[in-house]
Amino acid sequence: MIIHLKDGLTQEEIQNAADATQAIILNGNGVRLITPAKMKEPPTAIEPWVDSFHPTASDIQLASRGYSSDTRAVTIGDVTIGGTTGNSVVVTGPCSVESREQIFNVAEFVTKLGLKTIRAGCFKPRTSPYSFQGMGIKGLRLLAEVREQFKLCVFTEVRDATHVDAVIEYTDVIQIGAKSMYDHGILKACAKTTKPVLLKRGFGSTLQEFVQCAEFILSGGNPNVILCERGIRAFEPKTRFTLDLCGVSYLKEHVNLPIILDPSHAMGHAYGVGDLSRSCMAMGVDGLIIETHPNPKMAKSDAAQQLNFDQFEQLLGTLTPVASAVGKQVV
Ligand code: PEP
Ligand code: MN
Repeated sequence: MIIHLKDGLTQEEIQNAADATQAIILNGNGVRLITPAKMKEPPTAIEPWVDSFHPTASDIQLASRGYSSDTRAVTIGDVTIGGTTGNSVVVTGPCSVESREQIFNVAEFVTKLGLKTIRAGCFKPRTSPYSFQGMGIKGLRLLAEVREQFKLCVFTEVRDATHVDAVIEYTDVIQIGAKSMYDHGILKACAKTTKPVLLKRGFGSTLQEFVQCAEFILSGGNPNVILCERGIRAFEPKTRFTLDLCGVSYLKEHVNLPIILDPSHAMGHAYGVGDLSRSCMAMGVDGLIIETHPNPKMAKSDAAQQLNFDQFEQLLGTLTPVASAVGKQVV
């Protein structure tokens, strides 16, 4: 249950109300108490301090459409998604920053296409310790140069909580990778800022678990969370993962956070990324994140799934009519 407290209460009254309801105190939009979901109404002792209360069906609370029906607007640099914008942001770039030349090459390409965002990882959560782990802080500094020179808004991932401050300083969106979805150190660090967070779904996680991880960030004070479906593990090994489009419908119906889809990591092969991207766009999502590399065969991570520039440009041309058919515009 979410309780909106009356204005003008003392800190002591707020704390007493929180203690009486085992609640988290959330400042912003007045003072709110987030109690365990099973609580159906405020205890009589705190009634004089209550302005309104909103029972919720599960611990999907701040993110639920039952509490707030409109999709949240999240602003990424000078692009806003969600709210009433109708924007669908197409974010592209390599899996990893590999060199100055590579990332500047991609930034020029993205700018030429009129896009406003770029993606690239510097702290890569690899499945093998012997694979390329990312350029780390040197890569982040290159991304900061790209941001400055091309005025692009940069998405990049953190691999642990110690990366969060640097990612905030050098870039625009903190990406929490699928393997880190449950990392409470990262979730808590992301709750302390208002920097937008792209939270990727763990590939073995239910929708409830996924959105509850978003609730850790929201209830800690950061309202700017975007969900990312990037494929879950099913029994089929021919594709890398299985993009859960049924899950996307569930999220659109029940959850008020913007949704970005990642067809690249779901498919794992460049040949399927175009068809999947158009299918995702047809679902009226708030954005796509697609891996593109100047020379995919030579990529240091995720070589098989990255598009080359020609493939991406061609794909982008086909996304625009699909977006407009569902009332969206590509930004
Ligand atoms: C990535 O975006 O490059 C990545 C590693 O994604 P995920 O966390 O979804 O595997
Ligand atoms: Mn990748």
